[in-house]
This record gives sequence, C-alpha cells and structure tokens, in this order.
Amino acid sequence: MKIFSKALTSLFFWGILFFTPSAVYSHTILGIRMGDHPSFTRLVLDVQEAPSFKVTVSKDCKQIRLFGPQLKCQKKLPQLPKRLVKSLGFSSFRTGVGEFKFDMAFPIKIMKSFTLSPSKATPYFRYIIDIQKNDYCPEKKAPPPQTLLPKKKVIVIDPGHGGKDSGARGRKGIQEKDVTLKIATILQTVLAKNPLYDVRLTRHHDVFLSLPQRVNFARDAKADFFISLHADSHPRPDTRGLSVYTLSKVASDAEAEKLAIKENKVDLIEGVDLSDHPPEVANILIDLMKRETMNLSRQAANYMVSKLRKRVLLLRNTIRSANFAVLRTPDLPAILIEMGYISNKQDEKLLTTYQHQIKLCEGIKEGVDSYFIEHDRS
Ligand SMILES: [Zn+2]
Repeated sequence: MKIFSKALTSLFFWGILFFTPSAVYSHTILGIRMGDHPSFTRLVLDVQEAPSFKVTVSKDCKQIRLFGPQLKCQKKLPQLPKRLVKSLGFSSFRTGVGEFKFDMAFPIKIMKSFTLSPSKATPYFRYIIDIQKNDYCPEKKAPPPQTLLPKKKVIVIDPGHGGKDSGARGRKGIQEKDVTLKIATILQTVLAKNPLYDVRLTRHHDVFLSLPQRVNFARDAKADFFISLHADSHPRPDTRGLSVYTLSKVASDAEAEKLAIKENKVDLIEGVDLSDHPPEVANILIDLMKRETMNLSRQAANYMVSKLRKRVLLLRNTIRSANFAVLRTPDLPAILIEMGYISNKQDEKLLTTYQHQIKLCEGIKEGVDSYFIEHDRS
C-alpha cells in the first residue's frame, strides 16, 4: 500500500511536469564524467537545459539512480573509471521519464547535489553530485547458512556414588561406586557411536560428588537426558535383577522409598531460573515442567525396560518411582537404573563381567535411541 501510494505521488509529480511546456523540462545529456577530489568524488552531468533531476541511493548504498523528465542521452554512454563505477545504464520509459543507474564499485553516500549555470567557458548546465565512500552503510547481512546436521542430544551419565561414598558393597568386597564408574565408561563409548549423541559423565574418577553437583553438571551441559547408574543391595541374598526408577512425589512402594532415602544423602537445590516470574507463576511452571518431565522420564523408562528385557534379568515390577534427588530436576527427563544387586552372588559376578556390562549398555543404548526417536517425532 505504501509503495503504491508512493508510486502515485511520483506519477503525480512527473505528471505536473509533463503538463508544463516540454522545452523547459526536457533534458539532453551532453556528457557524464567523474573526477577525484581529496575528500570526495564528483559526478558531473552536462545538460543542455536547466536540470530538474531526482537522485536516490539504493539501500545497500551501491547504486545511484537519477531520474528526469524527457531525459535523453544523445551520445553513447561514457566509460567511467571502473574503480569508481562498475557499470552505467540508461533506460527511458514511455512516460518520457529517463533514468540513469550508476552501479558503484563501493558503498557511497551523497554529500550534496546542485546545479551550475552556464558560463562563458561552459555554455551548458552542469548537474553535480558529490559522493563519498560510505563505511557505515547498513548492509543487509546474509542469513547464516542452515546447518544440515540436527543438534546433538546431550546425554549425561551419572555413575552413582564415588570417593568417600562407596555405595553398596558386594559379598566379595566389590563397591558400588566402582561398578557404576566402570559401566558408565562403557556406556559412554557405546552411546557415543551415534554421532548425534554428545555423551558426558558426571565423574571420570573415584571422586565424591554431591547430588546438587551431579544435577548442576547436567544443567550446565544443557542435557537432554540424564541416566544415573547404581547397583543395589538387599538383606535377602537371593534378591536379584535390574530395575529402572523415575521420579515421583510419592514413592511407588515402601521399598522404593527406603532406597530413595538411602541414595539421597544430600538434598537438592532446584536451580531453575524463574526469577522473572512471580512466585505463583514460578510454582505453576515448575509443576507443569515436572509433569511433562515425569511423563518423558516414564516413557524413557518403558523403552529402556523393553530393550533390556531381552538381555538381562529384570526385577519384578521393573519400573518403579521414588523420590530420588538426582531425578528431581524439573526440566530434565531422567532415569535411575539399579543395574542389579551386588548383594546377590550371580548379579555381583555379572556386574563385573565385561560381556554382561556390554549387554547392559547395548540395551540402555537401544532404549535411549527409541526414546529420542519417539520424542523427536512428537
Ligand atoms: Zn547407589
């Protein structure tokens, strides 16, 4: 609409001119030249009649357009210095309006334009345009090239316990913190085979990490998925099998709650930044996020179990929920895998056997794959 009205205004403008005696408003160009001055460049058009031109500069500052009614170019267009003007074009329209286009070699700005009247030495009008290089032209930036590769999914693996916190102990003195670190390292290698995964470990050594440190690590890594690895112990030596936990406000059973208390040595600070929101909104947002996250975590746990079922022995009621601190991140889908019972002789042996560790990690990887395939689709 704006362009249309602009065009109307311009037609009206030229229309007025055309209804006036044409002799006054016809422009015969006798010559075009350019000259360098210390601080500017001068473009000169020699015109037979008193000029009535309109000059504009394109948005990218690289083209000068000069319009005039009844504009005629008598001679062949001159060759202007290439270092100043890349090309010069002339076109005339049926309305009689003629237009010169100067494609400049660099961005310019017009300092001034004015007319010099004929003199004894120069018996014609000179239309002068003084230009300068424009270093501040707001050039249109090309959009950044589209990346063809999708964004990598950041998966944080958290080997449970470490350092002074050794976790559960096996009958043969095996410590949970060592089992979790070993399997976490293998899982990292297995998952990292997928070029779309960026897999990180909360710890690479036998060091103590508080629960908030583990969660903050995942948050700083902008993790898409969090897997905490553990190995359980039970007073009954025949209890064995793997189970997967997701967060719930109320633990799914008394056993799960007991385990949650055992694993939660440190309380978690929920460090989501909601400082821009009033407290009520923040609470609602956290609640919504939690619900969404809990749903995603449960989905992931289901995939995990369906893939692991074919490979390793599972505990009855395999998917459980408990109030684990490491799972208490409102915005990050997270699961905790109790990979077996190191209090059980067979599980203890298996958890330290490479073939079994690989089987376990392959199963977890397939679960992760299924989760991301499904999650990306929805
Ligand atoms: Zn543990």
